[in-house]
Amino acid sequence: MRPIPWSYVMDWRCNACGLCCREFEVVLSVEEWATIAKRFGVRYTRMDGGKFYLRKTLDGSCVFLYNLGSVALCGLQDMKPLACKLWPFKVLKWPKYGSASKAQYVYMGRLFYVYVDPHCPQVVLGRPTEHLAHQVIPEVIELSLGLRVEQEKSTASLPAIHPLYIEARRRMKGRILC
Ligand code: SF4
Ligand code: SF4
Repeated sequence: MRPIPWSYVMDWRCNACGLCCREFEVVLSVEEWATIAKRFGVRYTRMDGGKFYLRKTLDGSCVFLYNLGSVALCGLQDMKPLACKLWPFKVLKWPKYGSASKAQYVYMGRLFYVYVDPHCPQVVLGRPTEHLAHQVIPEVIELSLGLRVEQEKSTASLPAIHPLYIEARRRMKGRILC
């Protein structure tokens, strides 16, 4: 599915379904790769075509994904890659997927083009709510610009020292990777 302009979206609230952690590859910056490799070892990453990625388990899920009941948890919480933090949003300096005027968003006097991947089941189409327009979109822009690291509008709602994450990391050590 082609990304759509943010102004076609009514709202988005991640419910930690984990679909994005199962279906997509996570590309890493060199710095992210180095941090993860140092903490966990290079075996949890892979290189392809000059780019670094997180490895997946045999069922295609990200190696750091843990399902507890219906909730998907990220075991990489305190060093979650930017690609994961931004998904399902794309923040661009130039229009890319059409309907440029609908994708425009002015933040701190700068013009951005923000798109949303409708693959995420929590993307609800319609007229943008206050929550989406004035909380979610500014946060993803700040994340993309490196102005903030912490998320409030995503799966990262639990602190990295939460017992669930610690347990997720403990279990990760025995995983078989593909
Ligand atoms: S971003 Fe969307 S697909 Fe990913 S966990 Fe949240 S609701 Fe699910
Ligand atoms: S690093 Fe975390 S958020 Fe990213 S795909 Fe893996 S489990 Fe999901």
